[in-house]
Amino acid sequence: MHEVSLIENVIAIVERERTRQAFTRVTMIKLTVGALGHAEPDALRFCFHAVAAGTIADSSRLEIEIVPGQGWCADCRGTVPLDERFGACPVCQGGRVRMTGGDVLRVAEMEVE
Ligand SMILES: [Zn+2]
Repeated sequence: MHEVSLIENVIAIVERERTRQAFTRVTMIKLTVGALGHAEPDALRFCFHAVAAGTIADSSRLEIEIVPGQGWCADCRGTVPLDERFGACPVCQGGRVRMTGGDVLRVAEMEVE
């Protein structure tokens, strides 16, 4: 499950942050996850506690904020919502849509003490 390595990256980001701010424990991590990305929120939640065990994020709460997919339609010449990575334009049904958003996975926020 590649979500394990994604979570390992998140923990590494948090560990790096600790070297800049002095905190001893992370109580909440909020991730922004793109709806069109490769990470399943359920799988992220599932592996989070196992991966975080023994790290600074041990027993912290995981919150996930989903950002919707977005594309640029060359025919409508505008931004359109996108439900799938290579989906058709929901406005004109055309296939000339380039994904422009909804593929992120980043740490949006964290609470520390
Ligand atoms: Zn269109």
